[in-house]
Amino acid sequence: MTNPIEFAVPAAPIYTLTVHGRSQRFPVNRVFCVGRNYAAHAREMGKDPDRDPPFFFMKPASAIVDAAAPISVSYPSMTSNYQYEVELVVAIDKGGFEIPVAQALEHVFGYAVGLDMTRRDLQLAARDAGRPWEFGKSFSDSAPIGALHTVADGGHVDAAAIELTVNGTVQQSSNVAKLIWSTAECIAHLSRYEALRPGDLIMTGTPEGVGPVLAGDMMRGRIDGLTEVFVTVDQQAKGGAQ
Ligand code: MN
Repeated sequence: MTNPIEFAVPAAPIYTLTVHGRSQRFPVNRVFCVGRNYAAHAREMGKDPDRDPPFFFMKPASAIVDAAAPISVSYPSMTSNYQYEVELVVAIDKGGFEIPVAQALEHVFGYAVGLDMTRRDLQLAARDAGRPWEFGKSFSDSAPIGALHTVADGGHVDAAAIELTVNGTVQQSSNVAKLIWSTAECIAHLSRYEALRPGDLIMTGTPEGVGPVLAGDMMRGRIDGLTEVFVTVDQQAKGGAQ
């Protein structure tokens, strides 16, 4: 028995997600997010969809919220344009560097529905000024993610309807088969820059139809074969999200 580590300040928690049908939880390491990975969404953001290599931004693990059951999130601070992006989330269980496309799916633990919540006004201001997107993308509770469905139980998700409704009205409706860069290609590309590690997540990008939500709105995100997410927007928390 070794001595426990003593910390100078309280240690951050390990952020975890529910695994469908299992008691074990999935500990989240890093969250990589793919930008503009559906052609129609690239166009609505004012960009030409081409097949330039995929690009990534990141969220901290503390941005995730377990949405295996219905949850609410607070309207974030410093924005008046808080937007949803429904996405297929890929969870990595086996690390690797320079993973070939043909072997990439062997590194996938499972899949979930996630929301890449975005302070769009801050993101676009940063983008247009050539600055980092962090304040637009990487805030607390900006990644509600539903239960992970393991490959062992449900296989891979490569052609499934993806949809987001707000207060019952469909706002986003596409198919993950329309990803410009497939899950395997994203894994292979990302792993050339950074060795992937167990616990990493990849949010694979959102289809067209993104838009704003306000306090009181209820979002429902779904992908065929995966557990749906239900996320209600609360009033802005006093003192910001904790
Ligand atoms: Mn996104």
